[in-house]
Amino acid sequence: MTGVLKKCVYVSVALDVPLTRLFEYSVTAERTPAIGARAIIPFGPRRLAGVVLGVAAETQFDSSKIRSVIALPDDMPPLPEDVLALSRFCAEYYGHPLGQVLATALPVALRQPKTFVPPEPSGVYQASNLDALLQSLSPRAFAQKQLALMLAQPMARAELAAISPSANKWLKNWIDAGWVAFTETLPDAIPLPVGAAEANAEQAAAIALIDGQHASFAAFLLFGITGSGKTEVYLQTIAACLARGQQALVLVPEINLTPQLEARFRARFPSARIVALHSGLSDKERVLNWLSASRGEAHIVLGTRLAVFTPMPRLGMMVVDEEHDASFKQQEGLRYSARDAAVYRAHQRQVPIVLGSATPALETWHNARQGRYRLITLQHRAVGGAMPPQIEIIPMHRAKVVEGLHQATLNIMRDHLAAGQQVLVFINRRGYAPVLSCGECGWLGECKRCSAKLVLHLKERRLRCHHCGYEEVIPTACPDCGNQDIRPLGQGTQRIEAALETLFPDANILRIDRDNTRRKGSLQEMLRQVSAGEANLLVGTQMMAKGHDFPSLNLVVVLNADAGLFSVDFRGEERMYAQLLQVAGRAGRAGTQGRVLIQTGYHDHPFYGQLLAQDYAAFADAQLDERRSMQLPPFAAYALLRAEAEDGALAKAFLQQLQAVLTDAAGVQMFDPIAATMQRKAGMERWQLLVMSDTRHPLVNALKRIAPLLEARNNKVRCILDVDPIEM
Ligand code: ADP
Ligand code: ZN
Ligand code: ZN
Repeated sequence: MTGVLKKCVYVSVALDVPLTRLFEYSVTAERTPAIGARAIIPFGPRRLAGVVLGVAAETQFDSSKIRSVIALPDDMPPLPEDVLALSRFCAEYYGHPLGQVLATALPVALRQPKTFVPPEPSGVYQASNLDALLQSLSPRAFAQKQLALMLAQPMARAELAAISPSANKWLKNWIDAGWVAFTETLPDAIPLPVGAAEANAEQAAAIALIDGQHASFAAFLLFGITGSGKTEVYLQTIAACLARGQQALVLVPEINLTPQLEARFRARFPSARIVALHSGLSDKERVLNWLSASRGEAHIVLGTRLAVFTPMPRLGMMVVDEEHDASFKQQEGLRYSARDAAVYRAHQRQVPIVLGSATPALETWHNARQGRYRLITLQHRAVGGAMPPQIEIIPMHRAKVVEGLHQATLNIMRDHLAAGQQVLVFINRRGYAPVLSCGECGWLGECKRCSAKLVLHLKERRLRCHHCGYEEVIPTACPDCGNQDIRPLGQGTQRIEAALETLFPDANILRIDRDNTRRKGSLQEMLRQVSAGEANLLVGTQMMAKGHDFPSLNLVVVLNADAGLFSVDFRGEERMYAQLLQVAGRAGRAGTQGRVLIQTGYHDHPFYGQLLAQDYAAFADAQLDERRSMQLPPFAAYALLRAEAEDGALAKAFLQQLQAVLTDAAGVQMFDPIAATMQRKAGMERWQLLVMSDTRHPLVNALKRIAPLLEARNNKVRCILDVDPIEM
């Protein structure tokens, strides 16, 4: 304290701490920050970065106790009103501290308590004479060629530098030679691209509808099977948006799995700046791309769920592709639905939003049926002649089976391979076998820390828990009775791969699952092998189901399909339908009709009748009827409170305490706390309390009552709140 009275203002700052309240600091009046700006402040002995949410001339606290702001870095445009509004909405709706929501919204580099100094000027490089540049390269200079081809588009230096450590040197040479130019700023408006496919009648109607709403909010559900031309509709409506000088935000489930989509956008908009935002990027790439979007330089942002918070000053439309995908819901920290947040934001900004899917989430389908979203259906595959895949059921009841594969399945596979086609065996279970067992005493290998079986990984010579990561060596004899004949039960990808190696010794087999694609770039390399035809018999998990086009794949075999039918989760069938249709969509992309074989032990279950009809609308309507009669979402709003403690009794008691606080809240109902489906996980006992109401408002209001209890420090019990849980 200097004793000299400088004129001060007081700012309230949201901090990344698990507390709902804001914190006040003083700044000298000359430096009054904007709302939404970053501030670096003292917090106890530490420094933290936060976001300024209020500025006032007075304070209600003792002004002598208020500490002053350390710095107001001018390293990003202040967060705009719509991002702040979206953050406030998420904080309230999902019951999460605002400061932590805002931290989620910012890239890591801008959460640090120091000024971010960009390592290079903003601005982009682009080839001014690509032909001359390419001709100058030796045919073996692969990295240089890759870099040169990237320069067909405007690219920032950080993106280019990722290609090779020599990128900067090459770039300099090419600029000196006059083949590449640097521009500080690109024009806002991008002229309509030439050479786009001519929209068919259905697409043209869709584009006209969406584009006709460009000056106000409207939510569209673009419903059409894989290959019906949804992406083409996004591209053409985005083209119109860019031509008006606006920006577009496109959310995709997992960008690592959709490099083809990014390539398609880049090919369509060669003069636009397209930036990606996803967890596969380095912190540096992420902050630069984010800044490029927030300064209005990037025309298109292609990102995963976290990109929904990206500031975009000239936002003109939004797209959520594969809107039903579970990965739009974050499953930790701020448990938000990026799809719902996107709709909120589109409304806030008064721009149209397109939700695209072949199998819309039932929540979305209901909104469309109610008329809140406008339903646009693409009935046909876009490419002339391509037909939806033919789905067949292979009943497994009393069948002759080789390693989980029916004889009929094997015969059909053999025919396809002999005809030079690719075959995909889809099994949603990695490892060799889901459990190891003793035939003598009934012992099963179980995780010591979870209520779960240990999965046998033969390649890695381990038993592994897929829930907590615990692993141990494979025992040579039964730990209980000493019997040496212990056996794997059931099949996983590794076991199917091994079986296929024996059954099809001439095939080039490739297994693709999480275990062998952890290394960066390995998935891309495998996908390249598939596209190049270097492998013809593929074994894969759901990683294979999404978004890849394999031109010569036209048989998909689905093993172990039934899991979803008996799931405790009421969304089991909805998910299963979506997944099976998605994997079926991998078959027969190139003009031929694909074939899908589904092996099931329950072939007369009504679900398979609905699947064979390939009429998702009818399936969804029937599911909605069931949900309505059972008061399940979307006909009721739910929140899940899950408490975990080493001592289960403490977890249960904590939930009972919450229950008591909520008991007389208007309009909500509760069930008694119950043990979670997976009662033990990573050494913790888990209990849960479900709270519901007919509509969202009473629920959100009631949950405010328990915020202080959830915020209070409790070393023994960890409790999370999940509003609109996707698993319950
Ligand atoms: P979806 O996103 O629904 O799976 P796409 O937009 O990817 O469908 O279209 C499937 C295929 O059809 C793509 O190869 C695309 O280039 C092509 N396609 C889409 N619309 C047209 C069109 N109007 N004319 C010609 N080809 C088209
Ligand atoms: Zn035994
Ligand atoms: Zn475990």
